[in-house]
Amino acid sequence: MQFCIRDDDTSFFTSPEQLENAYGELSQHGPISLAVVPFHRAGTSKGVPEKYRGRWSVHPLHENRSLVEYLRQGVSAGRYEVMLHGYYHDEPDGHWEFQRGDDLGRRVADGRRYLEDLIETKVRVFVAPRNGIGREGLRAIAREGLHLGGVAGLRSGWPRCSPRSWRTWLRLRRWKMTGQFGVPWVLDLGDHREIPGNAVTPLSRSSANEATFRAAVSVDGVFCVFTHYWELETPSQHSDEPIVGEQLRRLVDLSRSNPRVMWRSVGDVVSTVL
Ligand SMILES: [Zn+2]
Repeated sequence: MQFCIRDDDTSFFTSPEQLENAYGELSQHGPISLAVVPFHRAGTSKGVPEKYRGRWSVHPLHENRSLVEYLRQGVSAGRYEVMLHGYYHDEPDGHWEFQRGDDLGRRVADGRRYLEDLIETKVRVFVAPRNGIGREGLRAIAREGLHLGGVAGLRSGWPRCSPRSWRTWLRLRRWKMTGQFGVPWVLDLGDHREIPGNAVTPLSRSSANEATFRAAVSVDGVFCVFTHYWELETPSQHSDEPIVGEQLRRLVDLSRSNPRVMWRSVGDVVSTVL
């Protein structure tokens, strides 16, 4: 079984200390895949510090020199992977950046090239801001040869004329009908692959995540955590759950204590597993 960790929202607004506090120790044991915003627009996202929220100014990653240096070193040491997380992330009219738009192809191509040049790495995975994707967004990432962190589904971009879309849909439906948790595979849509994320947030339930983890072990599949460095210290909304970071640590412990589990980057998992 393969285990990976996806963390969203690294941007101009992130400090190296925040990432180091979140992952300095964890990343000694396995890679953390960071979904990075190239030109964050200071909108309503929780990853934007309060004093910037609602200004709608654009903040290129390269203006945060200490973060760029930290990411370069982390990537070259194998502690981090960089993925593309939208282009501006926040849109002034409130729509989700990659759900629709006629500029998405350019944003994916330019955003990817910018991150690859700046961090000196290869980007293989796209993560949609707010997990919102649509047909145009999906087409744009497939054209760039990227894979998707998350699942689009028939309602959000899988081509309805493709038998492969329906085969995948049917497989997921059968899995759910047997009462199983989560989706423990990488999904192959032909022109790109998708890797489902299991949320570790103030709303998540450890019991559900651990059941999904066990299901993934049982089918020798995949378990991908999806979380945010900026909320690891946040208490759970459930009174009987520990803080978010502790829920993450438990999943890491589960994977490290099981010899059948291999911890890899999201890009490695989605590029090689079927
Ligand atoms: Zn985000």
